[in-house]
Amino acid sequence: MPPKRLGLDASLAVDVGENKSYAEMTLCPVCQDFADTPRETDCSYRHMFCSTCISQVLNARGPCPVCRGNITKVSKLSIMNKNMFDMVKWKCLNHEKRCTWTGSKKELEAHLDNVCPEQEGECPHEGCTAKMRRALLSDHKAVCEHRLIPCDYCTQGIPAGAFDDHPTTCIGFPVECPKKCGVFVARSRVTHHLENDCGEGVTECPMLGCAARMKRKDVAHHVRSFTQHHGMVLSEEVKKLKKQVFHLSHTAVRDHDDCFSVMMTVPNYETTLQALVPGMSFCSEDFSFQGHSFNLILWPRGKGRDNRQAEKTELWLRASDGYEGVLKGVVSIDMVGRQHPATFSFQKHYGEAQPLGQDAHRRRPPNGLTPICQTVLETLRQNATFHNGTLKILLKLTAPALNQQPIVVGSRTCGGPIRRRGVPRPIGGGLVAGVNSAGLSLGTDGANPPAAAQAEAPAAAAAAAAAASASSSSSSSAASSVSLSRPSPY
Ligand SMILES: [Zn+2]
Ligand SMILES: [Zn+2]
Ligand SMILES: [Zn+2]
Ligand SMILES: [Zn+2]
Ligand SMILES: [Zn+2]
Ligand SMILES: [Zn+2]
Ligand SMILES: [Zn+2]
Repeated sequence: MPPKRLGLDASLAVDVGENKSYAEMTLCPVCQDFADTPRETDCSYRHMFCSTCISQVLNARGPCPVCRGNITKVSKLSIMNKNMFDMVKWKCLNHEKRCTWTGSKKELEAHLDNVCPEQEGECPHEGCTAKMRRALLSDHKAVCEHRLIPCDYCTQGIPAGAFDDHPTTCIGFPVECPKKCGVFVARSRVTHHLENDCGEGVTECPMLGCAARMKRKDVAHHVRSFTQHHGMVLSEEVKKLKKQVFHLSHTAVRDHDDCFSVMMTVPNYETTLQALVPGMSFCSEDFSFQGHSFNLILWPRGKGRDNRQAEKTELWLRASDGYEGVLKGVVSIDMVGRQHPATFSFQKHYGEAQPLGQDAHRRRPPNGLTPICQTVLETLRQNATFHNGTLKILLKLTAPALNQQPIVVGSRTCGGPIRRRGVPRPIGGGLVAGVNSAGLSLGTDGANPPAAAQAEAPAAAAAAAAAASASSSSSSSAASSVSLSRPSPY
């Protein structure tokens, strides 16, 4: 703590022996107060000043302010002078108000700050403006309206003057449940109580699948009384969940899967269907997935080979160039009057690799030709209506990702001087291009006209197909309008 300027003067020095004359020597001749951080000059009398007061004189190259003698430097007090500064006794500044205390300048500072009963102080409580003698202040602080009293409910400090009214607003004060369930809760917890605990609040039956709503206090009774009902709805829920798990496990796309989607469209499907005979099919153009060629084949009225298969709508996916591996896929067909497209998922093993899991006992698909939807497509046969009469079969395929190797293309020298106009031709240099397997097939879309759709029929039905083709113009036109749309991303 730096020393305080107390405004001391000789009249405040204790009048005993030499004390008063020593006291006068401790007062700075420039500022008249007790010398602060005192320094003595090298004038003949070694006069003493505050260090700041005498340094201003020195800076102005003035003489000693007391004796006008020459000053060249100032220095710290001699031991003798320092002892004198410490020993001079002063009266309390409040001596006229009956305080009889005496002591050194340093002791006087502490006395005024902490002890003197006559020293005036301010009430420390926030918001209180009271000022009074220290003797009265401690009594005042004990009853001050602004002193803080801790609230037992919210633990906040509440000003004493507002404490009696505090329970009407205290967030921790217990209040009765507004629904009169008999419970008292802290004011801030009322909403939580009503939403989660209140026996009079309405809640849903906690049993999975039961949609009953009741007062919370009646839940236990409801659960006890409807055991059989709950067992039934629970088993329904489990069935639903099983279906969802099955669907998810067949449609989930892993990060490292290759994905591909393709849409086969059959315009005028509904009218064409009337004239179609068993064994006739709609074939999509070939498309490429994972570097292999595939196409979709739809037999709307069955393959016509035997009675067992007759009239059974089937959708097949053919891998025409020896694809090997497990293909997962989802087929969706949008029909008028249905809120969601009809969706069927499948998982098929192609090629010579050992089949996995429960498909292991099944025959491998001959020639890569595999039925992916059979009975599920019964919906396509009768009474099905499609937007603008066009059947659209969206197929999404996924398979474990291939290690994509870059396709290496050769190079040759291109001759001739560089022409002035146009883009100069590169000479030499090799090109290595990374190509997505699906992208390769897309590249041919614009270049080639859509391949004519074939009517694919086993030999036994070929004659019938030809007859139908000849007798009905709509049959052949519908068959030729089958096209392959651009694959869309997932
Ligand atoms: Zn001074
Ligand atoms: Zn002097
Ligand atoms: Zn005092
Ligand atoms: Zn106060
Ligand atoms: Zn409170
Ligand atoms: Zn309640
Ligand atoms: Zn229930």
